[in-house]
Amino acid sequence: MTSYEESYLNQRPQHLCNMCGKCCRVVYTPIPYSELLEKYKAGEQAAIDFLDIFVPYESISKAKEVDSSIVDNIIALSKIDNPNFDETRMTFYYCKYLQNNNMCGNYENRPTLCRHFPSTPWSIVPPGCGFEGWLFGRREEAKAQIRKVKEELLDLKVLESKTSDKALLAKIEAVKNKLQQRIDLFKRYGSENW
Ligand code: SF4
Ligand code: SF4
Repeated sequence: MTSYEESYLNQRPQHLCNMCGKCCRVVYTPIPYSELLEKYKAGEQAAIDFLDIFVPYESISKAKEVDSSIVDNIIALSKIDNPNFDETRMTFYYCKYLQNNNMCGNYENRPTLCRHFPSTPWSIVPPGCGFEGWLFGRREEAKAQIRKVKEELLDLKVLESKTSDKALLAKIEAVKNKLQQRIDLFKRYGSENW
């Protein structure tokens, strides 16, 4: 069965990328560079892929000198997702392959993280990114689907309260668990509150 992520990536209209290069010029990690470097040295593949192309800015101020709108947008959206988000732990980076004309100097061999960007409807994209509107639509679609699942869950709870048939109760419980798992798939994006 195709996973949600695979299906999302298959649908993503690549032509929406206007090749502005912003997502290569200012990217971030929510953890300090020193911590990412530890993961790199420990052989964590995601850290290796990332640090093989991205170079840290000396400070958040230096990244802001390159494009403050991207930095401010990333910080603001990170705080919406997590009110306890600690921006002092963030590090901003630029890609060493980005050319002056905004083209990728390593296009054929660019890593998966570039090929898949924006990799989920909740990916933080720079202001003006061609995917902004499309991502908004995908987030709304996902929320609508989860609200429908929640309605089905409520219907099942009503049905459950009206029967003492053990076989039926067991079936209801099984379906409830499946529906709850679908809701939990999106928990990190806030599905409990949709
Ligand atoms: S910011 Fe968006 S539009 Fe610009 S290069 Fe990156 S993906 Fe393409
Ligand atoms: S490797 Fe290419 S696509 Fe990936 S961040 Fe660098 S310039 Fe952008």
